[in-house]
Amino acid sequence: MVNTNYSVQILDYRNGAANATLLANTDAGRVAEDRLQSIEDLQTLLDQAGIAATTARTITTSDVTRARALRTQLRQVLSATELTTAIAQLNALLVAAHPDATLNWVSDTHEWGWHLSVPADTDAVRQLQLVTTSSLLAMTRTFGLARFGDCTATDCTGMFADTSRGGRRRFCDPTRCGNRAHVAAYRARNGHTHTGSSEPKNH
Ligand SMILES: [Zn+2]
Repeated sequence: MVNTNYSVQILDYRNGAANATLLANTDAGRVAEDRLQSIEDLQTLLDQAGIAATTARTITTSDVTRARALRTQLRQVLSATELTTAIAQLNALLVAAHPDATLNWVSDTHEWGWHLSVPADTDAVRQLQLVTTSSLLAMTRTFGLARFGDCTATDCTGMFADTSRGGRRRFCDPTRCGNRAHVAAYRARNGHTHTGSSEPKNH
């Protein structure tokens, strides 16, 4: 049993928002199957989120179940139409993950930041819940629901929390879904009505 504490420090919301988008889109309903079904799937997600390195506890199947439940809730938030509903849901998730979450002065960097000290044996899913919900709350404070959206690509049910400067994100995964949309637009412009395998060469 490790008793030393460490901190999940969130200097801004970009990292947490990216992780919320990452988790939400493990179930994007397109060509890919559900990518959060196994312990290995969750480990991959945590690696991508930069959380695995700080957890001292082994991932279990119940963690997968909890991560899937968190995913369902974050997808509800990202598609919410009522700001107060989204904030209430995020607040409940944040308090459940960390009853004492506070915004503190970070003397090292001389700025305000979420400083969430949690025991070293805190499980990874709880850390994921902390970093995603606190960041999405920060976004609602700044943008309301304007930066939460559904992917506009055909047959994709992906979602995103848009932290870009201009706030004009349209796709859950700009590389994958954005490129698919470009290909579809190219075919439409060139009169292709069938879904073939040829890709535009100058795009
Ligand atoms: Zn998409």
